[in-house]
Amino acid sequence: MQIDNNTKLFGVFGNPVAHSLSPAMHNRAFAATGYKGVYLPFHIEKIEPAIAAIRTLGIRGVSVTLPHKVTIMEGLDRLDPLAGRIGAVNTIVNTDGVLTGYNTDCFGAVSALEQYSDIKGKDVAIIGAGGAARAIGWGVSDAGGKVVVVNRSVEKGEQLADDLNAAFLALDRIDELEADILVNATPVGMHPNSGGLPVPAGVFRPGMLAMDIVYTPLKTEFLKQAQSARSRIIDGLTMFVLQGARQFELWTGLDAPIDAMREAVLEKINYSGDH
Ligand code: NAP
Repeated sequence: MQIDNNTKLFGVFGNPVAHSLSPAMHNRAFAATGYKGVYLPFHIEKIEPAIAAIRTLGIRGVSVTLPHKVTIMEGLDRLDPLAGRIGAVNTIVNTDGVLTGYNTDCFGAVSALEQYSDIKGKDVAIIGAGGAARAIGWGVSDAGGKVVVVNRSVEKGEQLADDLNAAFLALDRIDELEADILVNATPVGMHPNSGGLPVPAGVFRPGMLAMDIVYTPLKTEFLKQAQSARSRIIDGLTMFVLQGARQFELWTGLDAPIDAMREAVLEKINYSGDH
């Protein structure tokens, strides 16, 4: 790809950010579509000068990752209503100096589930009550799913369930769970602690849809156990790539080359050995 005076700059703001898979994914998307863009990782300590940099340098689009997804909201000009309800931004679009914040994690999770099942009317249990669970919970609620928040810490879990007008179940009572769809939104099972299981294997049922949002390793213990119980499975890369695809579409107005983006991330994971 030729970088020249018309090339637009994009990036990811995070801390840490060195292992982010987003540069590989988005640079591949630019190459696959012929869009003149380049995407870089930026290690960000302080939000205020980082926002000023977007404006000063004319950075066209930014992904926002931990720990900045909430604090960055203050510095933006506009907020997509869904990002406002979730209370976190993972995407910034710079339109002629006006910075708008979006949350595409929500879109990524719901689109991943909808590739396999209707959500409307389904009992959807989300394990975890952190930032990812919050985004997924809002998305599933908006799509008509009946959410049950399952969390280790009762206070945090009940808070999210209240916000979503959903049910709550303490993680240590998970044996009582009856769900059509089960989503792991905790980091349990992630490299280098692969092998960890957020729920007992007895929870999985034939025909249940089980989605993990952890993607290193690609086939987590959660997904292995679900598959052994004849549940259907969705890996964490599906959500990651679909949230990235939505970012790409917001930034460029083009259809995202989803297969090429997934391929780029898979190559990167295999290369780094995080599997
Ligand atoms: P977070 O805000 O730190 O929340 C983590 C949640 O997991 C908390 O509710 C916590 O429960 C629970 N948890 C942590 N360790 C646990 C354990 N040992 N047993 C039971 N529950 C445990 O994290 P997050 O931002 O939501 O991210 C969660 C995971 O999703 C991370 O691995 C992240 O990389 C991944 N993620 C993936 C995607 C994707 O696109 N695939 C997108 C976003 C995030 P307590 O409340 O009890 O502490």
